[in-house]
Amino acid sequence: MASAEVSLKIAAPMLEVAQTVREQGGEQLKECYQCGTCTAVCPWGDLRSFSPRRFIELARTGLEGFENDAWTCVTCKRCWDRCPQDINIPQLFQSVRRILLESNSNPRTLNQPLGSLRAVGNPWGEPIEKRETWARQAEVPVYGPGVEHLLFTCCTNDYDARNKLDSRAIVEVLRAAGASFGHLGNDQRCCGDLAYTAGDTGAFEQMREANRATFGRARPGSVLVTSPHCLHAFRNRYDDPEGRRRDDGNGRGETRYRHVVELFAEAIKSGALRPTRKVTRKVTYHDPCYLGRYNGVYDAPREVLAAIPGLELREMAHHREASLCCGGGGGGVWVETAKGERLGDLLIREALAAGAETIATACPFCVQMLESSILSFGLEEQLKVATVAELLAESLRPGEG
Ligand code: SF4
Ligand code: SF4
Repeated sequence: MASAEVSLKIAAPMLEVAQTVREQGGEQLKECYQCGTCTAVCPWGDLRSFSPRRFIELARTGLEGFENDAWTCVTCKRCWDRCPQDINIPQLFQSVRRILLESNSNPRTLNQPLGSLRAVGNPWGEPIEKRETWARQAEVPVYGPGVEHLLFTCCTNDYDARNKLDSRAIVEVLRAAGASFGHLGNDQRCCGDLAYTAGDTGAFEQMREANRATFGRARPGSVLVTSPHCLHAFRNRYDDPEGRRRDDGNGRGETRYRHVVELFAEAIKSGALRPTRKVTRKVTYHDPCYLGRYNGVYDAPREVLAAIPGLELREMAHHREASLCCGGGGGGVWVETAKGERLGDLLIREALAAGAETIATACPFCVQMLESSILSFGLEEQLKVATVAELLAESLRPGEG
């Protein structure tokens, strides 16, 4: 094709996107030698025509077309882990989204959650003063001097009726372990992780600064989180927005950040928690991308499940480093996807093939996405979703077994 024809195909906004992507990820883009490994491991391959390799090729050449795929990536990290050139492919998608958002070229369904984040500090459009309602009802003390752990609950754990069940189970388990913990009440804001990966860097920074100020006042030595996205934001993204993994469990300062399942596993090992009641069920565990691939937490949830009497753990074909994705990351939880074309649908299929009656997980977005897929296929009787905390709490309650 003659160069004049090529030029005609480059629309002005797309040229800006291409230039920005090249500026931000220029060195990385040059290193891509188009091997196609990323496309081969992308979980979308079984559902739709989507190629991260082609996305990179188009981003390099500046031709039109790559904007169509900009919102498909769910930042699951399967590609980055396998790329022989260690290219942070999810970050390339983030860069494109940022520019598209600035020119209002984003899915309309993103406007409400991102606007709500800026206005009330949570993506669900709920009032700030209702954040602590469940915690007050559960008589969780406010974090303060002399309290060991700050329990930072995800917005979805604070506001979503289904995920409040997980919050209550977490509190039940922490109490059974004799842990000293408190909640921030209405002072906390969304961690901002999904806003960042959806391209809204401004909303992410607003959330980061609000939470940093709160942490600065509270000065916690230990923060326990309920969502892998909060974990990733605090451990990695607040200091390095591109989210390269740290292995010391700390963000800036002396605070240690852990997902609650990590504390549960430790408490079982030390004997502080003794699950005795039988939970007679075939359970498979779905590794949330931001707990497993991004933060390397694979063993703790399995150790907890293995300690529950009667529970039979069955692995899915894809698990641990190779796990599939629920489809909620990267703002996917706010993008509409038709029944039968959702990434959660693939997980449901694998869980049933493994003979599971319950999919356990440790992320409120995974809970939402998986339950939505199960509901869309009318499989509520065959397959349930439970968090690791809910199963553990059940096994700690007095009763038969
Ligand atoms: S796996 Fe890496 S090198 Fe290969 S096409 Fe994808 S980005 Fe390029
Ligand atoms: S991060 Fe996941 S969804 Fe996005 S391109 Fe890579 S493999 Fe595909």
